[in-house]
Amino acid sequence: MNYKINKKGFYGEFGGAYIPELLRRNIDELENAYLDILESKDFKSEYARLLDNYVGRPTPLTFARNLSAKYQTQIYLKREDLNHTGAHKINNTIGQILLAKHLGKKRIIAETGAGQHGVATATVCALFGLECVVHMGALDIERQAPNVARMQMLGATVIPSTSGNQTLKDATNEAIRDWIANPHSFYLIGSVVGPHPYPDMVSRLQSIISEEIKEQLAKEQGRQNPDCVIACVGGGSNAAGAFYHFIDEKEVDLIAVEAAGKGIDTSETAATITIGTTGFIHGSKTLLMQDDDGQIIEPYSISAGLDYPGVGPIHAHLAKTGRVKYISATDEDALIAAKVLAINEGIIPALESAHALAALDKMQFKKDEVIVVIVSGRGDKDMETYMNHF
Ligand SMILES: *Cc1c(COP(=O)(O)O)cnc(C)c1O
Repeated sequence: MNYKINKKGFYGEFGGAYIPELLRRNIDELENAYLDILESKDFKSEYARLLDNYVGRPTPLTFARNLSAKYQTQIYLKREDLNHTGAHKINNTIGQILLAKHLGKKRIIAETGAGQHGVATATVCALFGLECVVHMGALDIERQAPNVARMQMLGATVIPSTSGNQTLKDATNEAIRDWIANPHSFYLIGSVVGPHPYPDMVSRLQSIISEEIKEQLAKEQGRQNPDCVIACVGGGSNAAGAFYHFIDEKEVDLIAVEAAGKGIDTSETAATITIGTTGFIHGSKTLLMQDDDGQIIEPYSISAGLDYPGVGPIHAHLAKTGRVKYISATDEDALIAAKVLAINEGIIPALESAHALAALDKMQFKKDEVIVVIVSGRGDKDMETYMNHF
């Protein structure tokens, strides 16, 4: 229903492909090919095989016994933290690298903020023997040294973007420039953002999350649909994948949690849906944080993966139609939720995922309800932040 894009790649009023004319051919090539490839038998079997024996899927749906007792309901955790490389991002990069291979591409371009998508891209490029170039803001390179080292160890070239604030937005501009200069490369985007067909393509590749939840819940509870699914939103890919197969199931409440940073009434926030306005970013029409002159406001969150000034057009649309409820959690909320999960269930979540977990404290559930929270990634990368705080 709400996930269906029209021919031009719009979800309601949001989406589309607002790109430099020089990229038209690249985008057309991808748009004309992606559905046929994604739906081909070859692609499907190779994708399924890699998810199984390389990524480690299906990921468990863990019944959180102690958390359930604490909140007086039935809580399940979808364990994307157990994927190879530690988060859901690999579901997408595996899919896109296969697509690139089908299109005969030999060089992969990506941009990364926190470095998580860069690592997931470098990983699949190594696996497929393709050249990998990752654009990254010079400031982010300094802040995310371990991920830069990982990318380099995997054989990727990390190119610092030295323009602007030297963060994700600048790396995105450089990646697009690179693609224009090297049209035979494949641009591998890390979330449900960017020009059509990327948001649709990435949601389809992440939809494995809700596909598995349905099968797993049917076995556990005798019904495929939970009462509620909760996921965090940066660009929105783990949430899009987690909601995908429930969008038309009206009895399933869908909750997305944005990063409020230090609070939505401060200037240090990343709660795009809550405070954003309509504009254009990264080739699509969506909600974003901008000032009165249309200049993008640098977002802030304790969690680097949610620190994005826009949001996928799907989410702008789902917020507008009301199908998904968007709430926000502050840095403090997320830190507390991470600790609660760690001591109750023996799982240290990524700071991003801790935002989804923080929703449990803000909501009320009935005893027999079934709640699924997406643990989008593991917390190893965030230990320094946790150590400084606790
Ligand atoms: C990147 C990242 C996110 C945010 O990205 P989405 O596209 O919104 O899913 C969330 N959790 C983890 C662990 C991440 O690495």
